[in-house]
Amino acid sequence: MRKGATMDTEWMAEGKCRDLSPEVFFPSDGVGVQVAQRICAECPVADACLQYALDERVDHGVWGGKSERERRRILRRRRLGRHVTAGV
Ligand code: SF4
Repeated sequence: MRKGATMDTEWMAEGKCRDLSPEVFFPSDGVGVQVAQRICAECPVADACLQYALDERVDHGVWGGKSERERRRILRRRRLGRHVTAGV
């Protein structure tokens, strides 16, 4: 977490994963990722969850229905978008 920032984690109490084993969301293969993503797809706080993982640069696991690779892609796209906007 960035210094001085307030971490909003109240959404975690509303997550569909709150009563499930955390292992489900840290899968070791693609099938496990799909299982986690199916749960996230019905989660009412998926947007907040994804935003948290992106803001905090969480490297591992499925957050907000996005795999590690998908989150890296989103962050890369955002960086490129900022460079385009800044004229770099
Ligand atoms: S989006 Fe997935 S990982 Fe995030 S809180 Fe919901 S169920 Fe849990």
